[in-house]
Amino acid sequence: MPTPAAIEAYLRARPRWVRGVQWASGRRYRVTRFTQRARSLVIVAHSFRDAAQARELALAVEQDWAAVAERSRETYDEILLKAPGLLVVQLRRSNICGCLGHRHVLVKEAPFAEAHDAFGGESIGEMDIACERVAAWQALPLSDTALDTRFLEGSRREEFHAHQFRLRLLSVLLHETNHLVFPREPELSIRERSLAFYRDALAQYVANDVARLSLTIDRSFSRLG
Ligand SMILES: [Zn+2]
Repeated sequence: MPTPAAIEAYLRARPRWVRGVQWASGRRYRVTRFTQRARSLVIVAHSFRDAAQARELALAVEQDWAAVAERSRETYDEILLKAPGLLVVQLRRSNICGCLGHRHVLVKEAPFAEAHDAFGGESIGEMDIACERVAAWQALPLSDTALDTRFLEGSRREEFHAHQFRLRLLSVLLHETNHLVFPREPELSIRERSLAFYRDALAQYVANDVARLSLTIDRSFSRLG
């Protein structure tokens, strides 16, 4: 299984003119991996303008995935076991069709469209994710709003929204990976799985945050006493 460093080395080792053309076109790559229960590397292909969103997606894969409850991750065990070793994500702002993401039948991202020794014989899958659509997505209108009201104060609310955005990106990534691995599974069941993952992960985050907050309050009260 190649490491993120090996993929980065491969990208750097391409001919100078190829890298020059890629750099001038604004294309950038960020390589990361799941840290628990999954072996796939995730390669985020993005414009230099969307580096911040690419970073959020990488954080979701590296950190938020590891922080969700074991039982939520378990629902993707079989999918991630069978997932391509390299998952290429073309990060976009929007899609004309309005979708949050799609799986691709063929890998089109140039450096990954053909097999290379650096990939260690791993299969490659590709998808796109439209980050502005994901940010505006009303995933679960009722519970998202109900949770929102618990985080009304400034910085906590920003932190909540950042976390919410990352969990949405993660659930779209898992949803499209599900399509790649089981192309015949109906959209409805794939959608139910990814929404359940998002709902549970967000609820866990809120529960942990509320627990953390009440702990702080308890401590400051005991100091007064
Ligand atoms: Zn779908």
